[in-house]
Amino acid sequence: MGYKLITVNGGHSGKAPGAGAFGYKEHEYARMIKDKVIARLKSVGVKAEDTTSNASTPSAVLAEQAKKCNAQPKSGRLDVSIHLNSGGGTGCEVLYYSEKALATKVSEAIAEVAGWKNRGAKERKELYFLRHTSAPAILIEVCFIDSKDNMKKINAKMNDIANAIVKAITGKSVHVSKPAPKPSEKDDNKDSLYKVQTGAFKDNANAEKLGKELKKKGISMYITKK
Ligand SMILES: [Zn+2]
Repeated sequence: MGYKLITVNGGHSGKAPGAGAFGYKEHEYARMIKDKVIARLKSVGVKAEDTTSNASTPSAVLAEQAKKCNAQPKSGRLDVSIHLNSGGGTGCEVLYYSEKALATKVSEAIAEVAGWKNRGAKERKELYFLRHTSAPAILIEVCFIDSKDNMKKINAKMNDIANAIVKAITGKSVHVSKPAPKPSEKDDNKDSLYKVQTGAFKDNANAEKLGKELKKKGISMYITKK
C-alpha cells in the first residue's frame, strides 16, 4: 500500500504464447486484464506503467519485462505480472518473492468478486519475473484457462476483477459509474397518456388543413403551439 508507481504487464506474447484452451489464449486474456488494471490505477490517481513485452521467445519476453520494470524508479514501486493458470485446477493464486501479505490480499480479493476458489499466496523465489525485478513484485494467476467455469466467470466479471486487484493493491476504490436510471414507476402508470403526433408546421393554416383531413377520417385531434 502507498505505492508511488505500479508497473503491470500481461504475460507471454503472440509469438511466444502461454497456455491455451477452448480457443482462449493466455497472452490475450493477460493483456485484456492488464489494460483494465492500468486504466483503473490511473483513474484512482496512481501512476502506472505498462511493461508488457511482445518479444518472440519466452526468455526474451521475461528479460524485456524485467528490463522495462527496472528502467522505472525503484523507490515506492511495485511490479505486477498478469497470467492465467492451466493444468486442470480452478481459481486464483498470487505468486510472490517477498510480498506475502500483499499476495494474500490480492488473491482473496479476486476470489471474492469472481466467485471461484482462493488458492492463496505462494512463495516462488525461482520465478524469473519475481527474481529479476528490482522492486517488490507479484505474479497474479487470475484463473485457469482450461476451466470452462473459470473462463465463463472471467468473461462475465473481468471489470470487477480488475477493480478488486486495484483496490487490494492501492486501498483505493475504483469509481463505478451508476447504471442509467430505470424508468420511474410513474411512467408505467395506467393513467399515463400516449400521444401520437402526425405533423408540425410553421404555418397554422397547414396545421388546420391536416387537422381537417384527420377529422374527416374520424380521428379526433387538437392543435397545440409551442
Ligand atoms: Zn503464464
